[in-house]
Amino acid sequence: MTTEREAVAAGFDEWVGTLSEWVAIPSVSADPDRAPDVGASADFLAERLRRTGFPDVEVLTSGPYRPAVYAHWPSGEPDPVRVLVYGHHDVQPADGDDRWTHPPFRPQLIGDVLYGRGASDDKGNIGAHLLGMAAHLRATGRSAPAVDVTLLVEGEEESGSPHIGDLLAELGDKLTADVIVVSDTGIFDAGTPSLCVGMRGLVAGELHVHGPEVDLHSGVFGGAVPNPISELVRLLAAMHDEHGHIAIPRFYDGVIEPTDSDRQKTRALPFDEHSWITGPAASRAAWGEAGYSTLERIGSRPTAEINGIYGGYTGPGSKTIVPTDGHAKLSFRLVGEQDPAAIRRAVTDFFAFGVRAGLTVDLTWEGDGVRPLYTDPNHPATIAAQRALGAAFDTATVLLTREGGSGPEAELVDAIGAPMVFLGVMTEDDQIHAPNERAPLPLLRKGCEAIAHLWRELAELGRDGLVKSDG
Ligand SMILES: [Zn+2]
Repeated sequence: MTTEREAVAAGFDEWVGTLSEWVAIPSVSADPDRAPDVGASADFLAERLRRTGFPDVEVLTSGPYRPAVYAHWPSGEPDPVRVLVYGHHDVQPADGDDRWTHPPFRPQLIGDVLYGRGASDDKGNIGAHLLGMAAHLRATGRSAPAVDVTLLVEGEEESGSPHIGDLLAELGDKLTADVIVVSDTGIFDAGTPSLCVGMRGLVAGELHVHGPEVDLHSGVFGGAVPNPISELVRLLAAMHDEHGHIAIPRFYDGVIEPTDSDRQKTRALPFDEHSWITGPAASRAAWGEAGYSTLERIGSRPTAEINGIYGGYTGPGSKTIVPTDGHAKLSFRLVGEQDPAAIRRAVTDFFAFGVRAGLTVDLTWEGDGVRPLYTDPNHPATIAAQRALGAAFDTATVLLTREGGSGPEAELVDAIGAPMVFLGVMTEDDQIHAPNERAPLPLLRKGCEAIAHLWRELAELGRDGLVKSDG
């Protein structure tokens, strides 16, 4: 009898070859010139899913979205658990950044680490479903999976999933599921397997402060009229008080304070702040809202972040003006029950009522924003995923963590109406979204194995077992 681990080991080298070929396709969704590559990446995945045995595979191209991949493999068992797997095959931009010492789209294996854009996020992690499925079949001696498996692999997640609603509407009942498995997140660190049970929401937009109709001479008018860029930075600085609390009225509505037990669990995580600061955070200090630890700030506190500022004269030499306009790009991470629409109103009021006479502000928002998402840590599906991950990592202890990032997951849960579990093995060392993205192969191997275990675990649970009893 072959175990899941042996089955993964037997297919792993070939799988790494497949992953490398896939990473070489520069499927950057943000770059219109790379549109054919996004299509090629979808076609590549579809072909590999067919080779794995998925009988029903489609590349979706008829909507406004960039090419996405749908695949379905029915179990053949009576009344099987139906699983929907979500991930993405597009990647973050990498061009024009000379900090890549390993070329982003010429994947390189150095030691047991695969370098390349997408090696981790998300081709490595969603690609693990190819070998995970093969290993599940081999270890169980089945010709079809023990659970119904449907995959939806999006082609524009890194561009904010602007058309996920169109995809969900187009596929409709084909996505019906008892549980959603997201393979686009990570674990606490390589030695500490963990399961994500929460993601922050997100609202992003741009603040514009308008002043004089034309640039004014700073000698003739300076000091006597309001300067829109001075006002911009004053307003931006006013978003936080000196203790790092966000000072926007009504901003904290819906934020849920961590309980003593939450705080205890967070403290129990093996977090080394110093190596976090000097390593992945690449900063010289940790700083944030007073009264909360770094992990709490990331996992359970909201943010008001200035992403960029522009306006006025920025060319060579000096130009002595009072400029017409100042602009800032802003983003807000949301937690608890914070509502994106209410946050947009609170932020708009804060700037509109706070601005000095003689200047005007307006805000432009990027889409509707994303609400925060929390999954039930006691749900049978969460426990099954903990067991699957634990089996791959040879441990009974799989911690539950929250991620600071945001994705289309809340929209998926709302549309499908099923519980969600996160199964991915990214770590902070993977440099996702940064130069020199990489994935350690031993972790990807465990990720493949965890998927194989999860299909078995969910099948053993059955549909009745997945319905959580409140007793
Ligand atoms: Zn991702």
